[in-house]
Amino acid sequence: MARILITSAIPYINGIKHLGNLVGSQLPADLFARYMRARGNEVLFLCATDEHATPAELAAARAGKPVAEYCAEMWQVQDRLGQGFRLSFDHFGRSSSPQNHRLTQHFAGRLAEAGLIREVSEKQMYSRADGRFLPDRYIEGTCPNCGYDKARGDQCENCTKQLDPTDLIDPRSAISGSTDLEVRETKHLYLRQSAMRDRLREWIDGKADWPVLTTSIAKKWLDDGEGLQDRGITRDLDWGIPVKKGTEDWPGMEGKVFYVWFDAPIEYIACAAEWVDAGKGEDWERWWRTDKGAEDVRYVQFMGKDNVPFHTLSFPATILGSGEPWKLVDYIKSFNYLNYDGGQFSTSQGRGVFMDQALEILPPDYWRWWLLSHAPETSDSEFTWEAFQQDVNKDLADVLGNFVSRITKFCRSKFGEVVPEGGDYGPKEAEVTAELAERLARYERHMDAIEIRKAAAELRAIWVAGNEYLQEAGPWTVFKTDEARAAAITRFALNLIPFYASLSAPFIPDAAAKMAEAMGVDLAWPESAEAALSALPGGHPFTVPDVLFAKIQDEERADWATRFAGVRT
Ligand SMILES: [Zn+2]
Repeated sequence: MARILITSAIPYINGIKHLGNLVGSQLPADLFARYMRARGNEVLFLCATDEHATPAELAAARAGKPVAEYCAEMWQVQDRLGQGFRLSFDHFGRSSSPQNHRLTQHFAGRLAEAGLIREVSEKQMYSRADGRFLPDRYIEGTCPNCGYDKARGDQCENCTKQLDPTDLIDPRSAISGSTDLEVRETKHLYLRQSAMRDRLREWIDGKADWPVLTTSIAKKWLDDGEGLQDRGITRDLDWGIPVKKGTEDWPGMEGKVFYVWFDAPIEYIACAAEWVDAGKGEDWERWWRTDKGAEDVRYVQFMGKDNVPFHTLSFPATILGSGEPWKLVDYIKSFNYLNYDGGQFSTSQGRGVFMDQALEILPPDYWRWWLLSHAPETSDSEFTWEAFQQDVNKDLADVLGNFVSRITKFCRSKFGEVVPEGGDYGPKEAEVTAELAERLARYERHMDAIEIRKAAAELRAIWVAGNEYLQEAGPWTVFKTDEARAAAITRFALNLIPFYASLSAPFIPDAAAKMAEAMGVDLAWPESAEAALSALPGGHPFTVPDVLFAKIQDEERADWATRFAGVRT
């Protein structure tokens, strides 16, 4: 038994995530967690909401609520949707937790002691009307290049020119619209990532088994241009973790908070402490401290490619720089993007399907299967309603669902709702068993390696093999002349159902549970195909399950394609 720590990139708090976000971290992480648990390993699977920074403040202001209240409500929404998709987190935490406050301040203190933090004085726009400093992107004005009147302080969206807030003509606050702005001096802390470059390189060079996508992004940031830059880790904001040196005040940093990218990854650790404090587990340090039991933990992170630099450089810089024996990530599984019907998913334009909407129209297994079997691993992939309808109808309804329905109904009509006795398995069953043994081994290899599309393809082939067997063996015809032989065929096919249920559970947990329940068995990972396919003896009772997967109709598809084309209301 191995011990496996799994984290999914933590979703930002300011809204409901779309299916592209879901398949870029949480869903594949759940697949892996479920698989690893099914194989008998000890798993700790953590995720949380990322709650700090200005976008949360602005979203709260739009909703007319205090930011803490807004975040608490949105956490509940995201938690409920995660459960709706059957994401099996051991804990779904919050980066605003007291545990994360303490740990973030602790790391900052350690980094300061190690000489890895420097203080920098900067000039920044201050809005007197708002009573606060404004981040560059919250200053608007007229672009000096093209005259666009809603250019942001960091970039003009119209002509794409990179800007400084001081370049803007008639600058104003994007929060209040006030033009009463002035440049003020302010002090910030910088993490000296540049001083950590060699240690980070050495650590990354030791990761020969990482996916190319992960390593190439990390090395680009390490070496491009002037190399790894120091990063500001504080902001002039109200909402966030107050800047402290451990438990001590930090002179000159009063009223400032840590920048969200500094505290968000530390929440991976804090979340384990939340898990214990919530009474769900004991001793979180045995997962996170190599001096306290975590030396045999394998730590796997899941994330979209845009998050790779933070996880390969910034967060490891925090951990290594602390000089304490915290667990570093062993394997990073990163994803490209899922596009939506010829374009991109867009949260701001409401384009594509969002998690709440998806669950309103179909059960989670449909989405889980399609998204995972099309996970954007080696390149971007695309969601289209045509492909979704076609794949789901074929794989889930025509192949798996049809197989289960056909054999259980046939058995009920000829032998009753018990596994029939009599007859022996012959060469055909031996042949299918051998094929399934080979496929099972391949499926396990792909799942172990987190090769999700390959694993899905193998699982599909395993379903197809049963369907083809049943078609060729034709117990309904054989029954007319050789009842014993028909009984053996039926018994073999019924034994495939618990086998399929166990293998399919990481992808489609609800259908797998229904299949196991109908067959009166618990889900258990097969020791071998051969043992699994004679597990249910003659006389074992079962029930015919309800339809596992209804087909998606053309009218539904057309309706949904129109409904999700843009402008979410
Ligand atoms: Zn412009």
